[in-house]
Amino acid sequence: MRKWHISRDITEYLRFYQEIGVEYLHDVFPRPQDCLETISADIARCSACGLHRTRKKPVMGAGNPQADLMFVGEAPGHEEDRQGKPFVGAAGKLLTDIILAMQFSRETVYIANVLKCRPPQNRNPREEEMEACLPFLFRMVDCIKPKVICTLGAFPAQALLKTGSPISRLRGKFWEFNGIKVMPTYHPAYLLRNPDAKKAVWEDMQKVMELFGKKAGHTKKSHA
Ligand code: SF4
Repeated sequence: MRKWHISRDITEYLRFYQEIGVEYLHDVFPRPQDCLETISADIARCSACGLHRTRKKPVMGAGNPQADLMFVGEAPGHEEDRQGKPFVGAAGKLLTDIILAMQFSRETVYIANVLKCRPPQNRNPREEEMEACLPFLFRMVDCIKPKVICTLGAFPAQALLKTGSPISRLRGKFWEFNGIKVMPTYHPAYLLRNPDAKKAVWEDMQKVMELFGKKAGHTKKSHA
């Protein structure tokens, strides 16, 4: 298609929206931030599974609404439930260190979980809870449109990739979810219990860095 065809089409689209009373383009194409705020409001009033009864605060996610890199963990823990923020506490600190070592920062990536409410005593998510909560994650991914999703631990990888394979088989390879590259790796909480697995995680993260044209060894803390 020639350039003047494209500009003619855009002009026609804009005229159409003007005629039907649209004042701002973000009314038609919501900005990622607005889109995430709508989801956050929906999560705050969600009672689709039993976890809403025991949660203190739902934990939607945090970071850059237009992040190229998104991390998805399993579910909020005690501290996350208390603060309403994802990945705080010891596992969160380790995730922050991993992100910095990848030459990103918590502000340039987006961090979320599959479940938005804490399972009591940090038990594993139940199938019906995952099913009830996953649509929120899908909507978030749709708003943010990351280039890469790093899943942390078995549950998010299995949920996004629709597989029952163990994390030991899934990690270290790029998979795909709706056209987005997915790199499964171990959960930071697992690394706290099994420090030997840090090497494997770093190998996985280096593959992600390569995709963004980054090389291990640089200490710059955010990606340009
Ligand atoms: Fe709703 Fe998800 Fe919380 Fe369940 S875990 S109540 S589905 S927001």
